[in-house]
Amino acid sequence: MKFYNTLTRSKEEFTPLEGNTVRIYSCGPTVYNYAHIGNLRTYVFMDELRRVLLWNGYSLRHVMNITDVGHLVSDGDEGEDKMNKTAREQKKSPWEIAAYYTDVFLADIDKLHITRPEIIPRATEHIAEMIDFVKGLVEKGYAYETSDGIYYDISKFRDYGKLSRIRLEDQQAGARVGVNDEKRHPADFALWKKAPKEHIMQWESPWGMGYPGWHIECSAMGLKYLGEEFDIHTGGVDHIPIHHENEIAQSEGLLGHPSARFWMHGEFMLVNGGKMSKSLGNCYTLSQLAEKGYDPLDFRYMCLNVHYRQKLNFTFDILDSAKKSLLNLRAAVRKHRGEAEKVDTSSFLAQFEEAINDDLNLPKALGIVWEAARSRPLSQDIFDFCQKCDAVLSLDLDREEKKEEHEEAGEDPEILRQIALRVEAKKAKNYAEADRIRNELAAKGILLIDTPTGTTYKKNS
Ligand code: AMP
Ligand code: ZN
Repeated sequence: MKFYNTLTRSKEEFTPLEGNTVRIYSCGPTVYNYAHIGNLRTYVFMDELRRVLLWNGYSLRHVMNITDVGHLVSDGDEGEDKMNKTAREQKKSPWEIAAYYTDVFLADIDKLHITRPEIIPRATEHIAEMIDFVKGLVEKGYAYETSDGIYYDISKFRDYGKLSRIRLEDQQAGARVGVNDEKRHPADFALWKKAPKEHIMQWESPWGMGYPGWHIECSAMGLKYLGEEFDIHTGGVDHIPIHHENEIAQSEGLLGHPSARFWMHGEFMLVNGGKMSKSLGNCYTLSQLAEKGYDPLDFRYMCLNVHYRQKLNFTFDILDSAKKSLLNLRAAVRKHRGEAEKVDTSSFLAQFEEAINDDLNLPKALGIVWEAARSRPLSQDIFDFCQKCDAVLSLDLDREEKKEEHEEAGEDPEILRQIALRVEAKKAKNYAEADRIRNELAAKGILLIDTPTGTTYKKNS
């Protein structure tokens, strides 16, 4: 089994550090708002990793934190704590805000068949561990006190920047000056903040009343639940340059050696080619997709169809196409049920396994399940093979669709014939012919959508 390790920028053979149990830490959500579909894509990736490890016979000890304190509005040390800000705006307590959005998040991931990690610790329940961690860093000379908090002294950690391969000098030049004069280096970050009176969440500490920095919670909870060294740390790519760099500095500073062996990062989801942002109104939630008639597993299918290290550009066309493909795949799989003919599926199985074990190549694995489902003769053996693969895909491949859904997904044989001709034309490098077919269909209001597992279409209404 090979995984891409951001730390070494290469695919490396994976085996657990100890015995048969894989220990994983995944950076969890900050529960001050609904998770958007970009966040959820990162957790689908986390789930693929779990399922592939389980497929390979490992057991898991997986931690995903819930950030319910300390994540400031900016990733630097400016701005308000996100929980505090929402609580103030909604006139609720931060605890109420956290409880509400945590429940919604967990319900969302359940709907997406993202298995809940074995351990889901809340930051606010681990303040003592964080204080101990910070005390350790102060004692070892990695941290210093200013009038507003305790800061990590990155110049003391020689390897700072090794994950993102940034150079400190560049950071120094690029950093805004005058933000915090007491910091020794602009990239020094807060481990603990001293709380002004009006700050709602605050705890006693050796440095007076305050609250933890965001990065320290992951180092402290990782250490508590997974020990000094563990196998894999996951998150989204946005975490590489600051959050994970800081986690590494904290853990290695205290422990004197690396904690996570593999660092794995999910690429971003874009919307219509651009960033998701509140002001553009494109931070869709899972419930908004449901209101528009999409099943959570349509979204899951769309995510599996793009490798986790590739950007996924979300559009409703692509989601439509995923929805249709999923219905068609289920129908194709179901045709094999109860058919007596014997088929040897070992080659499909070997290819499926090779794909998932090659850095979670789920698009390829999905393609192999498609190939099996389309293969003839019809056979219960193929049905069983697809069900087996569904332990990794988790797309409910045996689900019986309601009749209307069947019809909706029903494909026009003439269009399918044109698509097949276009595939042939492309294979023969006859692009003029391929384009002619595409344009002819477009003129009839039929839009072709090329995906890694084949071409589907959509009728413009
Ligand atoms: P947050 O709750 O902001 O800490 O984010 C939760 C997770 O979502 C983190 O692992 C982020 O890296 C990830 N994330 C944030 N935005 C996106 C995006 N547009 N696409 C994919 N993942 C994202
Ligand atoms: Zn984290």
